[in-house]
Amino acid sequence: MTRIADLLGAQNTLSFEFFPPADEVAAKQLEKTLDELAGLSPSFVSVTCGVGGDGHDRTRDIVTDICRDRTFPAMAHLTCVGHTREGVAALLDDYAAAGVANILALAGDPPDGSAISGDFHYASELVEVIRDHPADFSVGVAAHPEVHPRSTNRASDRQHLAAKLSRADFAITQFFFDPADYVQLCEELADLGCQQPVIPGVMPVIWPKSIRRFADMNGSTVPEDLFTRLESMPAPDRIGAAAESAAKLSQTLLDAGAPGIHLYTLNRPEASTQITELLNL
Ligand code: FAD
Repeated sequence: MTRIADLLGAQNTLSFEFFPPADEVAAKQLEKTLDELAGLSPSFVSVTCGVGGDGHDRTRDIVTDICRDRTFPAMAHLTCVGHTREGVAALLDDYAAAGVANILALAGDPPDGSAISGDFHYASELVEVIRDHPADFSVGVAAHPEVHPRSTNRASDRQHLAAKLSRADFAITQFFFDPADYVQLCEELADLGCQQPVIPGVMPVIWPKSIRRFADMNGSTVPEDLFTRLESMPAPDRIGAAAESAAKLSQTLLDAGAPGIHLYTLNRPEASTQITELLNL
């Protein structure tokens, strides 16, 4: 199965992120979305993981199915929260046996805001374990252009990110709306000697109320004028307008040297399809 590290550099990547569906209806919607977005020939897709219960098993099952049934690779998100060393080793064995070649290593966020429990506390510790596995996984990590909310200062945030990224193949960013934040992140990493590709994560604002809430948790700054305009629109008009503004941001990022675009789909195909068409990708 294709490693994302091998795709980067050869071409601008186009990727879509999904989350595991909560029930049968949502599972059908995800299948429909995958069918539609498959027509856009994504470079890869990724599937998030919940931090509790059977979160990792659900992610594993979806990623395994995509890698078996589709022509594009799927990357599994893997979090520290609640994980033991043995649990991660077993999951990596499952991924290797299923031909899954790409893992995004993350800290995760405990749902109640408590400290991270388990054998791992920082994503960089997971990166080491994935690197030590005999399968030659391509490893991605998260980056936060506006600085991670748990960081005490910008300099230490960038130093930890550069150290983590130096052992990984690439990063994907949290969503943001000002391209200057991405450019500054890349410059700060370069100043620390880190040249690994950083793929910007772009969120089309199809559900402004929910995305405001996510932004609040992530520390992403919301452009009031865009959100107010989208909030006042009927849903069908909003998808087009959200796609247009996300395509504009994506084009600016590509022009600034971004190695690809990672679209947060929220398991819906419409905005991602329109953005891809507008970008002519
Ligand atoms: P880390 O890299 O571990 O950093 C967390 C904090 O610790 C930062 O402040 C960092 O500066 C600091 N730090 C790092 N290393 C050290 C060290 N050695 N000593 C002291 N401080 C240190 N969450 C999920 O639950 N499931 C998902 O599927 C998921 N997918 C995501 C996908 C993307 C593209 C992104 C950007 C985020 C995703 N998240 C997901 C959210 C992510 O788990 C949270 O943002 C989490 O709070 C931080 O994850 P991280 O991997 O960046 O953490």
